[in-house]
Amino acid sequence: MQTSRETGDTPRYQYFCKRAWPPKRDLYMDPLRRDGGRETTWLDCKPESEDSFTTRTSALGHKLGLHPGDGGSTYPFALRAKLYRSNHIVALVSASLALLVLFPLIWTFGLPRLEISSEWVKFKDFEGHEGLLGARRRDQFLLGVGKADITGPVVELNLMGYANSSQVGTGLRQRLYSRAFIIGSVTNSRNRFVYLVLDTQSGDTAVRYGIISAIAALGPEYSMYGHKNIAVTGTHSHSGPGAWLNYLLPQITSMGFDKQSYQAIVDGATLSIQRAHECLTPGYLTFGSGDLEDANVNRSPYAYLANPEAERAKYPADVDKTMTLLRFQRAPDQTDMGVLTWFPVHGTSLLGNNTIITADNKGVAARLFEQRIGGSFVAGFSQSNVGDTSPNVNGAWCEDGSGLPCDFEDSTCSGRSQACRGQGPFNAQFDNGAKSCFEIGRKQFKAALSIYNSLDYSGTLIKGGAVQSLYSFHDMANFSFTHPNGTVVSTCPAALGYSFAAGTTDGPGAFDFRQNNSGDPNANPMWAVVGGFLKSPSEEQKACHYPKPILLDVGEVSTPYEWTPNIVDIQLLRAGQLIFIVSPGEATSMSGRRWKEAIADAVSNTGIIGEGVDPLVVLGGPANTYAHYITTEEEYCVQRYEGASTLYGPNTLNAYINISVSYVPYLATKANKSPPTGPSPPNNVNTSLSFITGVVYDNPPYGRSFGEVIADVNPSYAKGDIASVTFVGANPRNNLRLEGTFIAVEKRNRDGSWTAVRDDNDWSLVYAWKRTSSMLGTSEVTATWEVDGTAGTYRFRYYGDSKTPFSGLVHEFTGVSSIFKITRSR
Ligand SMILES: [Zn+2]
Repeated sequence: MQTSRETGDTPRYQYFCKRAWPPKRDLYMDPLRRDGGRETTWLDCKPESEDSFTTRTSALGHKLGLHPGDGGSTYPFALRAKLYRSNHIVALVSASLALLVLFPLIWTFGLPRLEISSEWVKFKDFEGHEGLLGARRRDQFLLGVGKADITGPVVELNLMGYANSSQVGTGLRQRLYSRAFIIGSVTNSRNRFVYLVLDTQSGDTAVRYGIISAIAALGPEYSMYGHKNIAVTGTHSHSGPGAWLNYLLPQITSMGFDKQSYQAIVDGATLSIQRAHECLTPGYLTFGSGDLEDANVNRSPYAYLANPEAERAKYPADVDKTMTLLRFQRAPDQTDMGVLTWFPVHGTSLLGNNTIITADNKGVAARLFEQRIGGSFVAGFSQSNVGDTSPNVNGAWCEDGSGLPCDFEDSTCSGRSQACRGQGPFNAQFDNGAKSCFEIGRKQFKAALSIYNSLDYSGTLIKGGAVQSLYSFHDMANFSFTHPNGTVVSTCPAALGYSFAAGTTDGPGAFDFRQNNSGDPNANPMWAVVGGFLKSPSEEQKACHYPKPILLDVGEVSTPYEWTPNIVDIQLLRAGQLIFIVSPGEATSMSGRRWKEAIADAVSNTGIIGEGVDPLVVLGGPANTYAHYITTEEEYCVQRYEGASTLYGPNTLNAYINISVSYVPYLATKANKSPPTGPSPPNNVNTSLSFITGVVYDNPPYGRSFGEVIADVNPSYAKGDIASVTFVGANPRNNLRLEGTFIAVEKRNRDGSWTAVRDDNDWSLVYAWKRTSSMLGTSEVTATWEVDGTAGTYRFRYYGDSKTPFSGLVHEFTGVSSIFKITRSR
């Protein structure tokens, strides 16, 4: 079935920023309130204290890119954005009066060195005066941002992440996007890179090949984009459709490869790059950071404790609590085009039993930020050193009635891993993690907004204008190098240990297959075909991976095709003093810290960013392929899930560091050479197995028609109620409705016309599809809206596409509910 970006009269969304940049004043309207928010002119200046958000500095953090200083600026970075903390009206009124008095004084005499509200600075900018940042020297880059829909099949396909073949999509809560950020040199059009943030579990080799060839097909204007300068990162969401990955192992639980799922990602990612390219303009990059205390925890603290005590003492927590943010600002009119953020937290807020497609907590954060700013602003919430992090901040507990915490060392309850579950902030809701997901996303949004609002005081300008990128394929199967202790060590062909099958507290016991059980009549059909190809590891392989007991010796088999990558992507990007490590695996907290520190040292030692400027280093991933996990060698020895999933043995992290550090000189401003290209990994798009069947046909039940209402709405609802309607449906795989919507909530205007006020992007609106008869081809669609609109008259509209028996032709149809009223309260 061909997918189409033209979807009838479905509402469309344009992101071409050349045409759609909002006037500056509009940036501070509140688009969250679609039907009344335009009356709210100024940003909501609520206290941040509820999220324990503070901006923070530290000596080490400065080196690692965690520091908001400006390296030579005449302005202090230590002005903190500690915002209003009082809940008392009296205090607020007093503060307002004090501000009225202080404002003209500061306006006249300058800014004192004291704690200050960043919101207030923005207010100053609104009045047309140049902010503090304007007084600093700013170097220009060529900048572009773009966004496009990548939502693949939302039903009848396994979700990617938990490796649980029974987790199959049944609907959609929030569409998935590719967000593209281009940074280029204003003087050399070849010096440019694209950083993609996909709402997917990871980057991928096949997806990357697809994007690169689609970009090449756009013509000579796009000839500067290729392997060297496109970074394909995933947010690590575990609630998107699967079956798009290049290698066999993740295909097993999805019953193989699905071209429609794959193509939606490739097409959307390409379109997002096109959109970013079309709005390239000279602009400024500003970097900031702050701590977000209660949005992630370490899910393998026992392994973390294996790291040297002196090293652990350098950090305040066993996961990184720092969010970093890069602002893209147009030079001609000082309009902000977008932000790119990094914060490590697993996309596992939605649990392994969720079957409704979303982009998990990072998708929530991105949506909220983009709604807040409005227009074609693009907010990318990129994943970072995510390996041992969890959004289940309430810890791991035995859900076996005992009420006990799970065993600290191996996360079991009475010796079994199944009952041990990490719990999110709203675990008691029994909603498969939906409310916890929104909360962890909202916290990231609030943290990012607070950093964003403080940038003009505490941000670091990205300097120099130099843009470089390097890229190399590297075979990790038997790579020998010198360990930091001076000995020569080696990596091994990929293998997964026993704890890999045990899963984590975010998804215990997820893999539903074991070696040598393909004879089980209930086994996954994919596994029944491929399981026999695995072999027992050689003594050499066992010794290389020691102390990992090998469960799946995936790196030594290439039949029917490669199971996991042995060839990984090494990529570094540079804009001024900012270096991006693009990691193909999920680096743990300490692994990420070591890697960033090593790169910062190498950059400083080689002098490539100039005297007196501290390097800033961020780490994004999993990117470009999916190389599972990267633990420190000490964590590896503990062999929890992350260690068991560290593919290339105990020296995996040191190998990544060794290779990337040795390539740092290629990032020099005048560098005109590249590292060795390396061996090309396979592209399995056209050779992958698939047991996924397509849509056969759709039929309405006898005597009914598509889109007809089966169960109608109530006449009225109050805010917070659940409004719902059920239609005669058809399979949404007939048309993915990319850039469109399956469901809209429409509100009646005064003149009797209707405006869509909620769609597939809104968390409060859920589209659910249910097959009622495979034989007859009948199905139902239920739209559910947790009412969050203002008073008025509404209706649901359903956009469907049915596949005709025999001819296979697909026809659009729509369904409309009866009207209903929203009242202000019950
Ligand atoms: Zn993960």
